[in-house]
Amino acid sequence: MRTERFLPRAFRRGTLILMMFVMLTGFLSAETASSGAGASTAQNTPTEPEELEILRKAFSDITFTATYDKTLEDWQIKATFKVGSQKSETFYWCESRLLPESELKNKSLYLSIFEDYPYGEEIQDPSTYTQEQIEEYRYAGLSSTRKNEPYVPMFFFDFIYSSSSRKTVEQHISTITFLGHKVTVNDRLVKPLAAVEKRLLELKKTNKTVADFLDKDLDHLEGYNWREISDVDRKSFHSTAIAIDFLPPKLNRHMYWRWTKDQKGEKWMLVPLSSRWMPPYDLINVFEEEGFIWGGKWLVWDNMHFEYRPELLEYHRWKNKKSE
Ligand SMILES: [Zn+2]
Repeated sequence: MRTERFLPRAFRRGTLILMMFVMLTGFLSAETASSGAGASTAQNTPTEPEELEILRKAFSDITFTATYDKTLEDWQIKATFKVGSQKSETFYWCESRLLPESELKNKSLYLSIFEDYPYGEEIQDPSTYTQEQIEEYRYAGLSSTRKNEPYVPMFFFDFIYSSSSRKTVEQHISTITFLGHKVTVNDRLVKPLAAVEKRLLELKKTNKTVADFLDKDLDHLEGYNWREISDVDRKSFHSTAIAIDFLPPKLNRHMYWRWTKDQKGEKWMLVPLSSRWMPPYDLINVFEEEGFIWGGKWLVWDNMHFEYRPELLEYHRWKNKKSE
């Protein structure tokens, strides 16, 4: 009896344990199933913008953390770096415009920060321009176009170069000697410029064109200057202290589309390359390889102008790799 009583009780207990086991495994498998569902939800969440890697490569001291904002359906990018103390700011990716939340409503005013630059390519000879190209260049040079077309937003640059105001940027600039000339630049440029200088001084020993340019055709450099771009009322990259102009002793050749336009009118884009003042290609290549772009490759050419834009050069490498 006892046994009989015991058995069923033991059996009942066994059943209870078994039931608990089944419930538990059921619960666990439900958990697995729901985490499986979680994984598939995660698959539906867009993946981090690929171009974020470009920024990580171009600015290796800056941490970029992406969090998906489901309400605004866009990535929030938190950028952090140390400049004295830790500094961070959050932008919305907004198709690589990097805008503060308050500017999302104005996104059509802005281009991507990766506006294209023909890295490593020679500039086109105006004698080969088609009528269509001439018209495109003329349109690009109109003040109305330049004022009303979307432009590169400065929010991200103002964060990394502390250039949202004259007061803040002036706390982050230094006057250095570069290639024998004094120039005031953003502190973030000191290292890349030292790399350019080292290579150019080496190149000068064997390259007469570069030596002649640096010794005879360069009078002075102009770097930081808190100013707006003349015809568009927007802050120039000289205000962020990441641009340097190379100026010759005499301004007797064409070097800036705007000055040429003032002289020659609508045909400014047709000035032959041989009549334009320009630094030697070997020098431009060194700058490009160290993260600087040259203004002579823009539609609206500015042949004296170099600008530190490592993200554009990384973008170019990334695009080439993608198309391989
Ligand atoms: Zn310039």
